[in-house]
Amino acid sequence: RIVYVNGEYLPEEEAKISIFDRGFLMADGVYEVTSVLNGKLIDFDGHAKRLERSLKELSMNAPVTMDELLAIHRELVTKNDLVDGMIYLQVTRGAPGDRDFVFPDPETTPSTLVMFTQSKPGLADSPVAKTGNKVISVEDIRWGRRDIKTVQLLWPSMAKMMAKKAGVDDAWFVEDGFVTEGSSNNAYIVKGNKIITRALSNDILHGITRAAVLRFAAEAQYEVEERNFTIAEAQEADEAFTTSASAFVMPVVEVDGVKIGEGVPGTVAPRLREIYIEEMRKQAI
Ligand code: PLP
Repeated sequence: RIVYVNGEYLPEEEAKISIFDRGFLMADGVYEVTSVLNGKLIDFDGHAKRLERSLKELSMNAPVTMDELLAIHRELVTKNDLVDGMIYLQVTRGAPGDRDFVFPDPETTPSTLVMFTQSKPGLADSPVAKTGNKVISVEDIRWGRRDIKTVQLLWPSMAKMMAKKAGVDDAWFVEDGFVTEGSSNNAYIVKGNKIITRALSNDILHGITRAAVLRFAAEAQYEVEERNFTIAEAQEADEAFTTSASAFVMPVVEVDGVKIGEGVPGTVAPRLREIYIEEMRKQAI
């Protein structure tokens, strides 16, 4: 695999980062994951805009312009013959040459940009989407700025491990009795014609897929209600699902051992998945 590190394309074995990089020492960095279908980028603009916002919120400099970023994405697709899969991008606050809590001067310590591809043949036809995911609830003890897409992913990793241990697929985070989001996705329930999902705030990541899916849902005449919901409400809902750039729209069929509806994907989530994939393929660049 050919990867990108600070201006260079290299075989992955040759890519090197300083041990003083603040991404490594302090999780001082942000990331994005963009899907690739048929060699084209899905919603690149959305991801580029959120990256700019994440960087701004952390007073970090963009290592390249967004046009250059697009060019690097395309070059990686070409160099790796990527058909279906993802491109991972990470910006960290560079390597000041020592460990210090104070941010280094960006003039002398440029940020580090790393990118690589992950091949997932048939990404849009995932068999899991046909059966849906089972989830457990886990307390949300992450920090208070979940709207910034930082590389600090230890609690989501631990939550996934708890899910795995419980024999299910994923975890939904709960704070003050309400679902915030999934470990790596936004969470939704469906009641009749209504799609319910938590409103945007610092409590959740502003999903790029969420924005597109809510737009398509409104266009398809579903009612969209942005408000908090509980695990109990999810268990009584007609359907549930999650959204993310890498799994698109994924039905959720069980929460904390309780089946949602019949315990199989309903009609709304699969339809939104189909619309999302079809529309985003058309807009892919
Ligand atoms: N929420 C969390 C915590 C995530 O990690 C992710 C994706 O990684 C999402 C939501 C979904 O965001 P997006 O649709 O931009 O991939």
